[in-house]
Amino acid sequence: MEILTENFAKAAKAAVSNDALQRAVKSATGGLLSKRARAVAEVPEWESLRETAQAIKTHTIAHLSEYVSRFSENAQRRSARVFLARDAAAANRYVVELAASHGVKSVVKSKSMVTEEIGLNRALQREGIEVVETDLGEYVIQLAGERPSHIIAPVLHKTQMEVAQLFAEKLGVASGASIESLTRAARESLRRKFLQAQMGISGGNFAIAETGSIVIVENEGNARLATSLPRLHVAIIGMEKLLPRWADVSVFLRLLARSATGQKMTSYVSILTGPKRADEPDGPQQLHIVLLDNGRCAIAADLEVREILNCIRCGACLNTCPVYRQTGGHAYGWAYPGPIGAVFTPLMVGLPRAASLPFASSLCGACESICPVRIPIPRMLLQLRRRLVESEHASVAASLAFKMWGFAMAGPARYRVAGALLRRLYPWVIRWSGRFGLLSGWTMFRELPPLAPEPFRRQWEKREKN
Ligand code: SF4
Repeated sequence: MEILTENFAKAAKAAVSNDALQRAVKSATGGLLSKRARAVAEVPEWESLRETAQAIKTHTIAHLSEYVSRFSENAQRRSARVFLARDAAAANRYVVELAASHGVKSVVKSKSMVTEEIGLNRALQREGIEVVETDLGEYVIQLAGERPSHIIAPVLHKTQMEVAQLFAEKLGVASGASIESLTRAARESLRRKFLQAQMGISGGNFAIAETGSIVIVENEGNARLATSLPRLHVAIIGMEKLLPRWADVSVFLRLLARSATGQKMTSYVSILTGPKRADEPDGPQQLHIVLLDNGRCAIAADLEVREILNCIRCGACLNTCPVYRQTGGHAYGWAYPGPIGAVFTPLMVGLPRAASLPFASSLCGACESICPVRIPIPRMLLQLRRRLVESEHASVAASLAFKMWGFAMAGPARYRVAGALLRRLYPWVIRWSGRFGLLSGWTMFRELPPLAPEPFRRQWEKREKN
């Protein structure tokens, strides 16, 4: 799987010195957080909704193969064709061959993180097929030749001026155009693409095992056009998007829109069950559903981290994360940025290739507090850090430091000796800290504080005597 960078710290350093990026990310995430807070305050039963959602997801992931089979049977019963893709290559191959066999030259896509994950656009483009992103943010990103930097707001890192400049260059829009003019230009260009396309590709927010239906939530209506105008519709869905029953959907619809955009409900909720029927005026002649594993079954079998598959991709943890708010999404190097990416990416691409990501967190816990399905992200980050140290993929300096720390903390006598030693060495540490790799990341922008004149243990002993 192609990743942009394997070194978060290096990419983050470049991001924090980009003032325009910092302003754009802080303003957009701040706005999303305020809207979410207002929307959540209107729901007194919010906590019980979260609890129910967590229970449904945890149950589904624990019985994943059962629900995959049930969904496949029910979708096929309603004339959809279901392909279980073991990995990204198998999913891409299926879509490319399907396009080739139907003479597809042009594809319209609605927003889908999972197609970013598998690199589907590049696979189609290599075969000479035109792929057009139709979500406005994704369209901007595609024109710019970049990647999304946020799960629900892919172009959040760009200012209006930057988008206007891009549209002037690529679409011939007058420079400095208003938001309305920019949107109109995108709409005019995209309408033509919708009408020309022979294949529409979407993701899916939920896949209902009980009926074999796909649920797509969106605000622009582009997903409706992409899934109903072209004669072929391909939905690529990660297996973790499964829900057992219809009754479960309402819980998640209430949580998702509020957590993501602060809306009570998104403008459009599309429910797709099979292709167009004989008595229906529109819809695709064929519906193909690619259910993607790509490592998800292995994660579902890993009891320490399986809850990461509960994620409903609302993006709230990104908005609240003090690290994401400084760096934006590209520094995370792959399709999934922010706290969710810091756990999901290493599990998907392999811990050694994303060894810096579990450390891209202050462990403040804001992500877990805001998560609508209560995913314990900080606990998982610590588990991944532990695995790194145990597998010796952590840096030599960090491994050594943690080994020394572990040794010193293993008994009161050792702790006392280590404390006394550190007090002796501390003035030297302060003087030289900026020059050593291990501490320079900390001391580059701040000073190490001086030690208290008396150690805490001695102060405590004195207090106990008095
Ligand atoms: S981890 Fe939770 S908060 Fe973050 S995107 Fe997933 S569901 Fe939303």
